[in-house]
Amino acid sequence: MSSNSSSRREFCKKSLLVLGAAPFIAHGLTPSRAYAQGTKAIAETDPQAMALGYVHDATKVDTTKFPKKKEAGGENQKCATCMLYVKGGLKADGMEGEYGQCSIFPQGLVAANGWCNTWAKKA
Ligand code: SF4
Repeated sequence: MSSNSSSRREFCKKSLLVLGAAPFIAHGLTPSRAYAQGTKAIAETDPQAMALGYVHDATKVDTTKFPKKKEAGGENQKCATCMLYVKGGLKADGMEGEYGQCSIFPQGLVAANGWCNTWAKKA
């Protein structure tokens, strides 16, 4: 595969991520301000979390459904290394470990060691 096609794919991926934040910006909110319940972790059973394969423990991803996680370097894919993970170092009610915010899931915090299929390498 050419590096041109790879860069184009990367550009498209990043553009989609930026567009994902557009609803917050349009309402005068930054993604971090859009959090209604900032101390609650998102539930793995949340319909959106399930659709994107979100889990609090990146080692427990169902790679048959989400093969991206088993690509080369997939072992390094987790929220803490994702470009959408911000304000790490938070605690989530009743949960162990570090949590942070993610604009994909404004309804709850995501685990530093979590993962979802939207993962994109932090620049
Ligand atoms: Fe974690 Fe990134 Fe998915 Fe957000 S987009 S849940 S930070 S992997």
